Amino acid sequence: MLNDTSIEKFRASLRGELVQPNDERYDEARKLWNGMFDRRPTLIARCAGTADVVSAVNFGRDESLQVAVRGGGHNYAGLSVCDGGLVIDLSPMKGIRVDPAARTARAQAGVKWIEFDHETQAFGLATTGGTVSDTGIAGLTLGGGLGWLSSKYGLTVDNLISAEVVTADGRILEASATENEDLFWGLRGGSGNFGVVTSFEYQLHAVGPTILGGMVAYPLASAKEVLRFYREFNNAAPDELTIYAAVLDPPGGDTVVALFCCYCGPLDKGDAVTRPMKSLGQPVLDMLGPLPYVAQQRIFDAGFPVGSYYYAKGGFFADLTDEAIEIFAEYAASKPSALSGILFQTVRGAASRVASDAMAFAHRSFPYAPLIVSQWVDAAGSEKNVAWVRDLWRALHAYAGGGVYVNDLDHDDADRVRIAYGANYQRLAALKKKYDPNNFFRLNPNIKPTV
Ligand SMILES: Cc1cc2nc3c(=O)[nH]c(=O)nc-3n(C[C@H](O)[C@H](O)[C@H](O)COP(=O)(O)OP(=O)(O)OC[C@H]3O[C@@H](n4cnc5c(N)ncnc54)[C@H](O)[C@@H]3O)c2cc1C
Repeated sequence: MLNDTSIEKFRASLRGELVQPNDERYDEARKLWNGMFDRRPTLIARCAGTADVVSAVNFGRDESLQVAVRGGGHNYAGLSVCDGGLVIDLSPMKGIRVDPAARTARAQAGVKWIEFDHETQAFGLATTGGTVSDTGIAGLTLGGGLGWLSSKYGLTVDNLISAEVVTADGRILEASATENEDLFWGLRGGSGNFGVVTSFEYQLHAVGPTILGGMVAYPLASAKEVLRFYREFNNAAPDELTIYAAVLDPPGGDTVVALFCCYCGPLDKGDAVTRPMKSLGQPVLDMLGPLPYVAQQRIFDAGFPVGSYYYAKGGFFADLTDEAIEIFAEYAASKPSALSGILFQTVRGAASRVASDAMAFAHRSFPYAPLIVSQWVDAAGSEKNVAWVRDLWRALHAYAGGGVYVNDLDHDDADRVRIAYGANYQRLAALKKKYDPNNFFRLNPNIKPTV
């Protein structure tokens, strides 16, 4: 049992705040992006730096507390806050240092993509990051990182140079290609299983400030035709072009099927490259053209507000067969909420040319990663919105490739955790045994420390 003396001693060891249930800031500090989860931790350590993280890890371990680790708080499954126990909250850790000569950036674990892009774009640089700017760099990077630059520059993990990690025994380790190489291998796709990452160092690339991006949307009636086009066009696209398809309702409009893209090559070539996306009949919306890279990075923001209820299912597909497209089109027409949709992400180009055992992220040969996301605004809507996602996912099961993006797992996906790590699971389990033998970090898509 925690006693007041040990809590006060812990508080005194922190440079940041220790938040408890009777504090004014408690409700704000425990709130997640996904309104589905209303959890009440006993303690929230709002860490100011690495030393606070070491204190929090040591305290949580010595007091045998359940521990959740929070970066941007955007996890679908709500794993970054616990009931009872301790939240190690990294969100106050906002340091970002860009080295324009080396084209690298070191960012602390509380940084969100909107903040990261703001700093790196000041130098005309960027790395592959999330497509909703409120998402944290930490959870996204540790799972893999799909984004608008991934076909050209690889996944976020392909651009990770090093990381500083606090392990379960309270040590501070640097992980890179030359230091603690096994840990570095595991961090790049192994989620939060091996410790608390306090900062990340990324490779940057010259991007923008203007790219060719945005979207073109067609009526839902043409969903099958547009998705078939997406299948072929995505396969043949140059690396500079990353394309997602989506089923969504624009504000005040009917459901559409849209093609979103980011072309990060020379602007004068982009028009010809993207023109076929506008050739599928009369678009309902044509918002494809030059725009600032930072605007592209916020293109989905309005569709994913903080505090709505969300439920998601996704998986990797080797192909989008006509049969699977039929099913997507059928369910797109029966969405129970205008806020819900389907997003077709992709792993191709540079992201697909990395060996599947080069690092923990294993799924390199699946050019389609559809994600079904339902969103609604009050608890009364939960049953039908969750059912829509589950029913569609069940109907698609025969066409899925078997793998799933670890960052797309939801709270009821425990039976899919192994397939999220694919053929790398055994090696990850051995690594877990080395770095976290007692499974102290277990509120995550958990790798058991047994081989
Ligand atoms: C609206 C939305 C859009 C998204 N878009 C994309 C996208 O474009 N591309 C993509 O790849 N993914 C995307 N995702 C998935 C996203 O990568 C995951 O939700 C990710 O977990 C979010 O990271 P976070 O730091 O915000 O989350 P948090 O909820 O804070 O953390 C998630 C988990 O990561 C672990 N973790 C977090 N920080 C640390 C740390 N510093 N050290 C160790 N473990 C840690 C913990 O286990 C924690 O439970 C999106 C998710 C949402 C909800």
